Amino acid sequence: MPDAVVTRFAPSPTGFLHIGGARTALFNWLYARGQGGKMLLRIEDTDRERSTNAAINAILDGLSWLGLDWDGEAIYQFRRADRHREVAESLLASGHAYHCYATPQELEAMREKARAEGRAPRYDGRWRERSASEAPSGVRPVIRLKAPQEGETVLDDKVQGRVSFANKDLDDFILLRSDGTPTFMLAVVVDDHDMGVTQVIRGDDHLTNAARQMQIYQALGWTAPGMAHIPLIHGADGAKLSKRHGALGVDAYRGMGYLPAALRNYLVRLGWSHGDREFFSTQEMIEAFDLAHVGRSPARFDFVKLESMNGHYIRSSQDAELVAALEATLPFLPQGENAKLELDAASRAKLLAAMPGLKERAKTLIELLDGAAFLFAQRPLAVDAKAAAILDAGGRAHIAALLPRFAALSEWSAASTEAAVRDYAQETGIKLGQIAQPLRAALTGRTTSPGIFDVLDVLGREESLGRLQDQAG
Ligand code: GLU
Repeated sequence: MPDAVVTRFAPSPTGFLHIGGARTALFNWLYARGQGGKMLLRIEDTDRERSTNAAINAILDGLSWLGLDWDGEAIYQFRRADRHREVAESLLASGHAYHCYATPQELEAMREKARAEGRAPRYDGRWRERSASEAPSGVRPVIRLKAPQEGETVLDDKVQGRVSFANKDLDDFILLRSDGTPTFMLAVVVDDHDMGVTQVIRGDDHLTNAARQMQIYQALGWTAPGMAHIPLIHGADGAKLSKRHGALGVDAYRGMGYLPAALRNYLVRLGWSHGDREFFSTQEMIEAFDLAHVGRSPARFDFVKLESMNGHYIRSSQDAELVAALEATLPFLPQGENAKLELDAASRAKLLAAMPGLKERAKTLIELLDGAAFLFAQRPLAVDAKAAAILDAGGRAHIAALLPRFAALSEWSAASTEAAVRDYAQETGIKLGQIAQPLRAALTGRTTSPGIFDVLDVLGREESLGRLQDQAG
């Protein structure tokens, strides 16, 4: 029986969880869940200068918000430094690695020479065959891998296919620095092995690293996990993803009012396809996801598509879920009026009642909140220019005429207010739309809103009559 699948997401906490990292995490998660396996989380915090707790927290929060859970406790790479050292020493003992005493000046001279000859800089192996007896005193050596010098290192990548690297181009790279700390190359191999990882899925910026890591696996006699290097995400214009294109932290997407399910759905289609299909529930995604259909060319990040997908998710969400999502998003919204909004039971109820009409017109939670602003507005309402023009162009007269009819209603509902307006329209021979617009202007201060009878219903008798009175004059 093949081993159970174990994947891992291994972010470096030197920055926040950006959108590319989120997609890598999603692919690892889907693959593991689809195969009945596990996804582990490893925080690669060996760069002590650049790793921060704030970044670790942002990564954990971002994953949780996206609904990507991991199995077991997160592993912190830095805490495993002793184990990394032990493996480097074992490679030394087995003759697969050696001490190198080259000074910084010597290394600089090597780089300089390579530059002058137009070659990629590489270590020349000068300590490969020398014995420790030649070591200069007082110099703490690094440990380098005695990498194969001929032939090629081959990677059977599940996305890239067969990729081969000429060994002459890969030098004897460092495993352990002179201060005893492991390099990224060594730490990743040892951790993946010790964590029982069977499948690595990560960005193709790690492809050359993968070749070097294969050499470490070979030197250790360990079985390497399967490899899948996924193309990076580019902007809609094809250029490398920058902030302008959406290379932002996941928290920024939260603040822009995207639903996690929509972002997940958008991300899964970024570089992976399943025929022409666009929409997947989480369960459908888990069942359909495979590495064979991850494309080899960079995916393009497209805000317009993300927005439209988000709009679809908003329209198909339950009203109560949207109220909860909105409330949970408030603290993440950019500072402004909305951020100060705090929902109480009454405003929550109003929002819920208005949601069927509101969610039809919003592509993001910010738009949803903006559309809901009329619910919480204080009298007398601020009226925007377009709405004011409608009121001025005869709108007030209709409102004044309708007021006593509304006031006389024994029951206040969308149906009863609609009946009153229809009666008035019929009696006066005016089109319904010509009455609906001034009502909308007076009740919401704007020219767009949910259906006007729903607005009357949600606002209730007292508030509706008050707002109409304010504008009837
Ligand atoms: N820590 C690396 C990064 O954030 C990933 C290493 C790996 O996946 O092997 O790019």
